[in-house]
Amino acid sequence: MTGDVFAKVRAYESYAFRRQLEAQRLLPYFRAMQGPPSAVTVIGGAPRVNLGSSNYLGLSGDERLTAAAHQATLRYGTSTNGSRLMNGTTDLHLRVEETVADWFGEEDALVFGSGYAANLGVIGALVGGGDVAVCDAGDHASILDGAKLARGRLLAFRHNRMDRLETLLRRAADTEGGTLVVVDTVYSMQGDLSDIVAITGLSRRYGARLLVDEAHAVGVLGPDGQGIGALAGLADAVDLRMGTFSKALGGGGGFVTGPADVIDFLRVQARSFMFTAAAPVGGIGAALAGMEIVRSAEGEERRERLAANTALLRNGLTELGFDIAPAPVWADGKQVQTPILRVPAPDDLAAARMWKLLYDQGVYVNVALYPAVPRGQAQLRVSVMATHTEEHLDRVVDAFAVVARKQARRPAADLVVGS
Ligand code: PMP
Repeated sequence: MTGDVFAKVRAYESYAFRRQLEAQRLLPYFRAMQGPPSAVTVIGGAPRVNLGSSNYLGLSGDERLTAAAHQATLRYGTSTNGSRLMNGTTDLHLRVEETVADWFGEEDALVFGSGYAANLGVIGALVGGGDVAVCDAGDHASILDGAKLARGRLLAFRHNRMDRLETLLRRAADTEGGTLVVVDTVYSMQGDLSDIVAITGLSRRYGARLLVDEAHAVGVLGPDGQGIGALAGLADAVDLRMGTFSKALGGGGGFVTGPADVIDFLRVQARSFMFTAAAPVGGIGAALAGMEIVRSAEGEERRERLAANTALLRNGLTELGFDIAPAPVWADGKQVQTPILRVPAPDDLAAARMWKLLYDQGVYVNVALYPAVPRGQAQLRVSVMATHTEEHLDRVVDAFAVVARKQARRPAADLVVGS
């Protein structure tokens, strides 16, 4: 008789920490959004300043994007009902691919159902048997999953350690196949940057190809919102750039852009592109409208406001005594305000309590607990929007001040155990 694969379900159901969070009404997940992810969103029945969304430029919910999604749906219907390969390609899918390629100055682009699917498909298709994927251990799950599913080998280096990357590249150089280096440009949990200058240099030196995930940078950073590769002036040294419509661009779907022959290969080899229905046109129509704004003077203004808002909140939280990393400094000496702030928590339960204290004061943030982050690195993840007003951010700082006061009053042990 075999064991029961459901045994792990029973173990999870009786998982003491989860039960404790539920009993104390501290579970920070699956809270229902009752409107668009705007600067203030009705969540769980009350309006809360929303710092838990990747709607960095505030475009999701913008009436122009909503109208574009509406128009696209009226014209093409609610479902694509099939693969891009067969019946799922619409004029809009082709137009959005042309637009992405034009924006990034690349030869071609391919649009997937999501950013997750894009990473899975690209890495799976390119890293074949005998090849190696070299990834930062802090890469997004879609990259690591893609590399694990690929037939080649996954080698991961310690987060942002360029000496370790070089060791792995040296090791990979001995294998017969090729090597694909894959890194995020902005890391989604801590908001820190990869060292794209060093990574492009090392990839070149060892003959590896480089794929960068610009999910949190597209629309937000770099000239014309093209991301970190462009900011560094290294777009040409990056072989493939991946991004998503589901963050700053306010739509749905993910993309990869690069040389025409590689994109053409992916079109018939990326399994997460072929064996799934094409992205619904509502999200694609919205993405087209979003890209138009992002590439205009209005997009630039929104990026400036986002950077100013992030700096304001970073300073406010730092002054309260929270250990917030300073904004990364670019080679030109200017700060890069990635719109993600990591607020460390003493431990998982304390993080949930901090979250609830904010939630009850009308402020919504995300919580990352083990295994989403390494053990002992529980954190709140605070995502800023261009459309937050100073008044919103003042309210956020006031709410965090209450958290800081509680933390100061409570001995750490009391925050640790639910006493
Ligand atoms: N890459 C990174 C770095 C991400 O943060 C995410 C989303 N959290 C993705 C890829 C996946 O994008 P999508 O949500 O569109 O699937």
